[in-house]
Amino acid sequence: MKVATAPLSAEARTEALFERISDDPVLLRVFLRDMPKGGDLHNHASGTPYAEEYLDWAARRDFCIDEAEEAIVEPPCDGADQVSANGLMRSDPDLYSELVDALSVRDLISGVQSEQSGHKQFFSSFGKFFPIVREEPARTLASVKRLAADDRVSYVELMFNPGPIDSYFSQVVDPEWDENDLEAAFQRLAPEIEPLIQQSLAERRAVEDDANGLLGCEDDQPDAGCDVTVYYNTYGLRRFPNEQLFRQLALGFALIEADPKSVGISLVEPEDDPRSIENYDLHMRMIAFLSEKYPTAKVTLHAGELTLGLAPSSALRTHIRDAIMIAGSQRIGHGIDIAWEHQSRDTLDRMANEKIAVEINLVSNDVILGVRGAQHPLNLYLSSDVPVVLSTDDQGVLRTDMTEQYVRAALEHGLDYAALKQVARNSLEYAFVPGDSIWSEGEVGVISDACNSLSSAACDALAAESPKADLQRQLERDFTAFENDIAEWDIR
Ligand SMILES: [Zn+2]
Repeated sequence: MKVATAPLSAEARTEALFERISDDPVLLRVFLRDMPKGGDLHNHASGTPYAEEYLDWAARRDFCIDEAEEAIVEPPCDGADQVSANGLMRSDPDLYSELVDALSVRDLISGVQSEQSGHKQFFSSFGKFFPIVREEPARTLASVKRLAADDRVSYVELMFNPGPIDSYFSQVVDPEWDENDLEAAFQRLAPEIEPLIQQSLAERRAVEDDANGLLGCEDDQPDAGCDVTVYYNTYGLRRFPNEQLFRQLALGFALIEADPKSVGISLVEPEDDPRSIENYDLHMRMIAFLSEKYPTAKVTLHAGELTLGLAPSSALRTHIRDAIMIAGSQRIGHGIDIAWEHQSRDTLDRMANEKIAVEINLVSNDVILGVRGAQHPLNLYLSSDVPVVLSTDDQGVLRTDMTEQYVRAALEHGLDYAALKQVARNSLEYAFVPGDSIWSEGEVGVISDACNSLSSAACDALAAESPKADLQRQLERDFTAFENDIAEWDIR
């Protein structure tokens, strides 16, 4: 007697297919490239375009190449070792190629030479393209959106500071600075805030308009990047003098209050730098102080991007915990040193209970910190029920993409299709994009009553008023289409 069995759903067949290919990096890449991945919540604007793009922009602007420094510099090109960037690819392809190496971690990861550590190579590259990236915020944003669309990423939370903030803060001299009187420092800054924020807001909007122009978003055949939603996180540079960092952060917070597209604040630059370590507590107090002034701002701090050896052991004890307990960080960037921290089990419980997501950057951690495979705490976070998202960090400098993060999560950490789908859903749930979720309170993957049918009037109404729900609903529709398609893939 035959027993009738219900046909497997496309999702179940997709899970089974994934299981069959889960040890094969090439098949995984085919599968995961097509998989919708939701958001990239940890993405630095200046680290995302590729070196080749920076060299192209430098050529367009007649910027120069300093051969000795292997860096892009401003015109005129009259220094001893300087040549024009214009036409360089043809006139001196060897130099062009050396520059791509210098502006990224290319030769390091391709194993051509490794006299430089990944950490040093990574961080040294930024100064070498900064002169051009500073001039090209719209091309940078267009590049971010193009890369995201190409990788099936629908939302990017981009670390980006408008020019008026960054050109102001580093020129500040505040002779009365007293780190124990942040209120007085804030009051001295107060008269400057409004005009700088208005200029910053205007620039942020102009950059978006220009980027959309570059992508042809109003044309008949717009670039796929036009469909990518971008919100912004402002940031403070943690190696700058404290009074300057304070002003940069204060302006970032003020911009978030004024600009609906700027949502969160971060701290960037190497956490292992002696200045970052020395001032870490003060930096947490600054964030806490400014969060009281500007309560709408969300906070996501790079914390625990450290290894023993890179930083002294004392620095590995409290950074993640302090980011949460003192600065009120609602997500954690990297979180690599969690196993070295005091009270790490309590911190993990707290992150699980309070839904403080960890932004995991697998390629970045491998290249910059040398942390990979079983040394990486990804599975500790997962098994502690901490919400996990995967992100790119600096995909151009690191010569990586979002798909590679997913491939590595599967290959090196054993995540199955259901786990990766959860990661993609998390990346919108824990995004700072405003609005209510399509999921039940605290349960990503359990649909709310309103969206029990994704095309119900109630779900339409939610998506119309909530940018988050709109993105989430589209992701679910994209999953349905993807699973129906990939489940038919006749391989293995
Ligand atoms: Zn980062």
